[in-house]
Amino acid sequence: MRYLITGGSGFIGSHLSERLLNEGQSVLVLDDLSTGRYENVAQLEGRTGFELRVGSVTEPRLVEECVKECQAVFHLASAVGVRLVVEQPVKTIETIVNGTDVVLRAAARYRRPVLITSTSEVYGKSEKIPFAEGDDCVMGPTNTRRWAYACAKALDEFLALAHWHESRLPVVIARLFNTVGPRQTGRYGMVIPRFVAQGLAGEPITVFGDGRQSRCFAHVSDIVGALIALMANPKARGEVFNIGNDEEVSIIALAERVKTLTGGKSSIRIVPYSEAYTAGFEDMVRRVPDLTKVRRLIGYYPTRNLDEILADVLADQAVGAAG
Ligand code: UDP
Repeated sequence: MRYLITGGSGFIGSHLSERLLNEGQSVLVLDDLSTGRYENVAQLEGRTGFELRVGSVTEPRLVEECVKECQAVFHLASAVGVRLVVEQPVKTIETIVNGTDVVLRAAARYRRPVLITSTSEVYGKSEKIPFAEGDDCVMGPTNTRRWAYACAKALDEFLALAHWHESRLPVVIARLFNTVGPRQTGRYGMVIPRFVAQGLAGEPITVFGDGRQSRCFAHVSDIVGALIALMANPKARGEVFNIGNDEEVSIIALAERVKTLTGGKSSIRIVPYSEAYTAGFEDMVRRVPDLTKVRRLIGYYPTRNLDEILADVLADQAVGAAG
């Protein structure tokens, strides 16, 4: 099979590309290299079956050509993370909504199965823990920019499901919870690569808010395996699945763990949200996935715990620093 991976030079996309190539599949990556990095796929160039095309997922002609040449589409291209939507709201919303629209139209034209990667952000500030796929999405007001990310991704889900409903276009939606691993950059705010880099540099580890907010972190290798299994399973079509890890940790406890792992030289600095993001920023207090649905369908269990994830990120950053 030849797969189109939009956003294939990003952190998750590059791991997915590599896994598919290792399984003997061929991969066409479409990436505009805005937040995706060439270094992420440089080691794949030259491998049989790999091709990178640089361009935007919002260009209909280009996307159509790519879709036509492949048998299935993993749509990962997106603006990444809440920080970007706070800083560049127009571009973020346009990339998310227009990009998915363009991909779905092309897929509908050529009847290609599409897996859309969504996000746990769509649960918004729901306090019903854990989050299950059928739960309400609880959004904040439209004048608080962070919610634009969740709303745009939720609209992508609506649009994909609408294609399924109207024409039985085979779509699957994967809601990814905090995904971590080698090659993830802290540039867009992601907490683990930031903490590890700060710890390794002996700089203060910056905990936003009071640090009592919690998250569940999954290793990218688990996520990638689940994406491939969902794409391959006809029963997943027209359905939404959480993918992640349900081991919960508070951000302050995470900071302590990273501090110890990196030799204990860093201090822990509490930074108010107004300083870290913008005034009036609302964070999610807890975010835990209910993994029952994905477990039932594809037997998904996360295989890497937080200690293993941290060790892997640390090794990756230590090598990067040495290199
Ligand atoms: N965070 C933090 N320090 C940082 C970066 C992030 O305390 O340097 C916090 C952030 O406010 C959030 C959590 O860590 O509560 C996870 O942030 P991330 O951006 O990684 O993912 P999110 O779950 O917010 O999408």
